[in-house]
Amino acid sequence: LSEETSSLLSAYDWLTKYYYHLLKYSEEGKIGLDYFTKRGIKEETIDQFQLGFAPTNSEFTMEFLKKKGFHQQLLVKAGLFAARSNDEYVDVFRGRVTFPIKNHLGRTVAFGGRAFQGEEPKYLNSPEHELFQKGNLLFNFNLAKNHIRKENEVIIFEGYMDVLAAYQAGIKNTVATLGTALSSNQAKLLKRYIDTVILCYDADNAGINASYQAANLLQQIGCEVRIAHVQENMDPDDYIKTFGSEQFKQQVISVSDTFFKFYMKYKKRDYNLSVDSERIAYIETIVQQLASIESTIEREYYVKEIADEFNLSTDIIHHDIEKYKKRNN
Ligand code: ATP
Ligand code: MN
Ligand code: MN
Ligand code: MN
Repeated sequence: LSEETSSLLSAYDWLTKYYYHLLKYSEEGKIGLDYFTKRGIKEETIDQFQLGFAPTNSEFTMEFLKKKGFHQQLLVKAGLFAARSNDEYVDVFRGRVTFPIKNHLGRTVAFGGRAFQGEEPKYLNSPEHELFQKGNLLFNFNLAKNHIRKENEVIIFEGYMDVLAAYQAGIKNTVATLGTALSSNQAKLLKRYIDTVILCYDADNAGINASYQAANLLQQIGCEVRIAHVQENMDPDDYIKTFGSEQFKQQVISVSDTFFKFYMKYKKRDYNLSVDSERIAYIETIVQQLASIESTIEREYYVKEIADEFNLSTDIIHHDIEKYKKRNN
């Protein structure tokens, strides 16, 4: 590491402790603590994740860091401070609760800050820098790693709060992409640990589309993908808080869709199945996808399902599968 880089890491370390301390013990941080408490976050979770509070007044924060020997220049470069006017620098996360974003070794390389009094944007992230590239990092991978190995499974969420809720419910093999699309580096990283990846995104349009993109990517690199769904208009955090962890495990995770099942549902949105020509086009699309399933048992299972649903003979479907397979080879 260059001197500047290790200095930057050190600044992130100090700030993690500073924000954390203020959340837990300061008068000003009480509103932040209340916010987390209201959202059901327990003290142990705050400690484990080093959640924090960035004070509204940036001067003390800058003073604190200067005393530790960090130069203004570096703090700006690290994305911790921003110039507001001539010679006035402000803490980027001021007035927000903070989530340290840690690399796979557990060092803070960025923060997420959430507004809690309705300010926009709701979330702010540190800008990317040498040690923080969103596409190379998964939130909570440092803590989840061993659990992922042990369970031979990982659950991917969208956000911080989903990970925290799952953590508190005793589900620890989870990571979050922090609202960006799953990248191929992130997918490959997970593939090195395990075969099965469960996507559990928000039950809104954005979440469903993101699930589709991520599922495709994971499937292409040879992961076994499953797609879990929470109730409409909820996200995993809401779900776990409303229904508890047992129901989450049994009615969301255990019954998650295979890639093909999800594909069938997803593609249905593009066709009006009460029109013959569209119904036919839909069946052709999914049978084409069916041809790429390697497991004979799984394929056969869906051949039957499609035959039943659309009143077709399984022979016809098999015939088309052979046709597509030849074309794919
Ligand atoms: P909350 O429950 O606190 O409202 P959430 O995690 O449900 O948060 P979503 O809107 O579902 O929030 O977004 C998922 C994730 O995407 C967030 O946890 C955050 O990491 C990221 N994100 C959302 N909005 C932004 C934003 N404006 N800038 C940067 N990241 C964002
Ligand atoms: Mn969302
Ligand atoms: Mn969400
Ligand atoms: Mn949420």
